[in-house]
Amino acid sequence: MKNRRKEIYAANWKMNLDSGDIRGFMERIVPYAGTVDAEVMIFPPAVYLSSVAEQAAGSPIGVGAQNMFWERNGAYTGEISALMIKDCGAGYVLCGHSERRHFFGESAEMVTRKAGAAQDEGLIPMICVGETLEEREQGETLEVLHKDIYCSLSDVKPDKRVIIAYEPVWAIGTGLTATPEDAETAIAYIRDQVRELWGDLADAIRILYGGSVKPGNIAELMACPNIDGALVGGASLHADSFIDIIQNGVNR
Ligand code: PEP
Repeated sequence: MKNRRKEIYAANWKMNLDSGDIRGFMERIVPYAGTVDAEVMIFPPAVYLSSVAEQAAGSPIGVGAQNMFWERNGAYTGEISALMIKDCGAGYVLCGHSERRHFFGESAEMVTRKAGAAQDEGLIPMICVGETLEEREQGETLEVLHKDIYCSLSDVKPDKRVIIAYEPVWAIGTGLTATPEDAETAIAYIRDQVRELWGDLADAIRILYGGSVKPGNIAELMACPNIDGALVGGASLHADSFIDIIQNGVNR
């Protein structure tokens, strides 16, 4: 089953790196990305989207924004639209990353509105879901994921190109990683929820794991049948470690 889904290795740089760092990174990743049987994606800060898209041009690297607003344009100071992201040469957008939900108060309703608006402009949304530590300790993980998936997909049209990232909040940037068993259980459950909504399309949807992925733990995660790739934060800031993650994931 997994063999029919192309793996994705995605770098979420968050609010890190400058133009010099990015040039050095792109010089390493561009020639590498063409040699590997997986999709490589980069989510730079919005101010560097055009530059990263230009440096990635001609390579198979996908470029995406870390956030967007659902309106096309207007008096929304500080926001960027799907139209602008596309105009920068990018094709993807993260929707509902846990840092957006928790630091910036994004609700599930906002997330699905953004993802639907992204689709309307031809962008592919990567929708992030995951439970907090408290929810996990209360045994509410599956309940949270059920709600997250149903709400986050409510404005989204069924499309096999939509990507989902399971990112347990307690594992993001903490050095704690879900065990492969826990990640597989959660992701298999997410796929079942997508199947309830979208039928057999669920088998084509890529569902990634994110949360302290490193070169040393990617192989065991990627060995799980439902895990189709990784969304990587901290370990994606250096080309060497990001390439090691891709290499170890693909060669597991
Ligand atoms: C992320 O930002 O999506 C993430 C998973 O971060 P980290 O790899 O640093 O935990």
